Amino acid sequence: TETGNARIEARDITMRFGGLTALSDVCISVPPKSIVGLVGPNGAGKSTLFGVLSGLLTPTSGTVLMDGADVTRTTPQSRAARGMARTFQHPELFLSLTVREHVVLADRIRHARSRIWSDLFTGRGFARSSSAEDQRVDALVDALNLGAIRDRAVGDLPLGSCRLVEVARALAVEPSVMLLDEPSSGLDVRETEELANVMEAVVHDHGVSLLFVEHDVELVLRICDTVHVLDFGAKIAEGTPAEIRSDPSVRAAYLGE
Ligand code: ADP
Ligand code: MG
Repeated sequence: TETGNARIEARDITMRFGGLTALSDVCISVPPKSIVGLVGPNGAGKSTLFGVLSGLLTPTSGTVLMDGADVTRTTPQSRAARGMARTFQHPELFLSLTVREHVVLADRIRHARSRIWSDLFTGRGFARSSSAEDQRVDALVDALNLGAIRDRAVGDLPLGSCRLVEVARALAVEPSVMLLDEPSSGLDVRETEELANVMEAVVHDHGVSLLFVEHDVELVLRICDTVHVLDFGAKIAEGTPAEIRSDPSVRAAYLGE
């Protein structure tokens, strides 16, 4: 799967922790405006691959490319500056800040307002907003259906809303690719449905590519363009949802058949 214009691509990634090989010659590619899913049993190496892609881990061998540029040895911060955003399996939010304030902070990071952190943490509160900022922030808050709870503190909100806040915050930095770590974990059926709609809208309306690790195989098969299956650190299948569904080795290794 080599595509010169992939937003993010991993080539022949091997990752060893001492004597344990967590990933073995894994290739994965996320083309522009696509949704790519990564599934596999516990211990298959999914989180390790996420770490390698996002820059938290340096692989033993192999290459990570963003838009064709080798970023294998760059920091997570420099990958963010190139357009990568991520969310976490356990949302990392500021419980006392409102929904809207989270998006404002991320918008100011994108638009280089250097005083945000000192203003916030010295108790001066938020610097005054500009109307351009207000417009950008409100557009995102509305796009993710967070308008009705925009002024609520995040600490008072259910997990499903927190995940949407994380997505809104990630989008505010105007990424070209987003990595989502188990976005539906802990959500009920209705929240999962809402999140799936948002993920599809993100690709459609914002032109962002998505790569997500997910335990909900039905969700993955429903919304992904391409699915990669890892087992014991090796990629055992790659294809469209229909191809994955009918792949005998996937059914044996993963779907328990
Ligand atoms: P998954 O996310 O698919 O459940 P992981 O990527 O977390 O799998 O783990 C893959 C394998 O690598 C597991 O056997 C795990 O114990 C091992 N592993 C992951 N991180 C480390 C680490 N920092 N040190 C040693 N072993 C690790
Ligand atoms: Mg994991």
